[in-house]
Amino acid sequence: MDGSSTELYNQSVRFGVGVRREVLAEVESLGKQRALVLTTPEQSHLSLEIAEYLGSSAGGVFSSATMHTPVEVTEKALSHVNSTDADCLIAVGGGSTIGLSKALALRTNLPQIAIPTTYAGSEATPILGQTENGVKTTLKDIRVLPETILYDPELVATLPKSMSVNSGLNAMAHAAEGLYAEDRTPETTALALEGLETLIKGLSKVVKTPDDLVARENTQRGAWACGTVLGRLGMSLHHKLCHTLGGSFNLPHAETHAVILPHAIAFNEVAEPDLLKPISTLLEGESAGTALWDFAQSLGAPLSLAELGMKVTELERAADLATQNSYWNPREITPEALIALLQNAQAGTRPGI
Ligand code: NAD
Repeated sequence: MDGSSTELYNQSVRFGVGVRREVLAEVESLGKQRALVLTTPEQSHLSLEIAEYLGSSAGGVFSSATMHTPVEVTEKALSHVNSTDADCLIAVGGGSTIGLSKALALRTNLPQIAIPTTYAGSEATPILGQTENGVKTTLKDIRVLPETILYDPELVATLPKSMSVNSGLNAMAHAAEGLYAEDRTPETTALALEGLETLIKGLSKVVKTPDDLVARENTQRGAWACGTVLGRLGMSLHHKLCHTLGGSFNLPHAETHAVILPHAIAFNEVAEPDLLKPISTLLEGESAGTALWDFAQSLGAPLSLAELGMKVTELERAADLATQNSYWNPREITPEALIALLQNAQAGTRPGI
């Protein structure tokens, strides 16, 4: 991937310091005139900033995006789409804001411009998770894939250190599970390795120098590669387990990925040591699972589910829920093995080789 622009999945993807200021040109290139800008309440200042760049092409702002894309919030936003007569959507934020934009696109077919401010990678996938009556369901539909992504490193430079680390590990999880995905191709493996290498180098730098915009842009390039892998391939144990822990135990998304990743990879490494070897090579560790745990520890990531508020008494139910729907995984998942994995993750123990 070189230069500042690339085409994949028919998405236009641009990287660069200040690229968010060119948002009006992107709206015009979609042939649109009235954009609705979406953010979370915490990032509402960004919706106003983007609206300023849009001038008369700003149709309105909606700053109530929230975690887990609840249908009630989508419906409120939908009435803003209608009352402002918006003809396109601009999501400025992390996976939650981009989730709202995708939910609106699904219902309206409006084109979307995503301006990511985390490394979660949702902007690069045709996947949407939504919550209704407390139940989170996930769908895959090409209509929810944003038409345009603008990766501006200045926007991730505001991420606190802990969010940079956790969100970066969340992105790395997409690529790590992509290495053994049943439907992987040589192309997706190359992209996953590129994403992992770029993020490992980039994250190590940004924890020391958070304002280094070159390193920040590299982390975004890594996040794009990892997110694209997520959008193309079926995920396994790690993602299913994190989905259960987030959905049923209300654990925070990126932090949960950060804690579970070394344990899920150590578990699957028993079945696929060769496919996961590149991870230990990149991290100069003895095995992929332990190397990921050491890397997370070196970055100051949370290491235990206990730190995230999980109770020991909930582990059995979590294991039950995570095995209710069957899915493909490179290694057979027995309830006993899953409980052992969760106990290690709960305690923050370094996984065995
Ligand atoms: P988030 O979007 O929930 O953001 C978390 C908090 O951080 C919010 O308050 C937000 O306003 C704030 N924030 C975001 N960027 C910031 C910045 N640069 N500086 C300061 N604060 C900032 O977090 P996330 O981890 O990006 O997204 C998690 C959600 O995305 C989950 O619901 C997950 O399921 C979803 N997701 C979906 C996909 C997909 O392909 N559909 C992929 C990854 C994640």
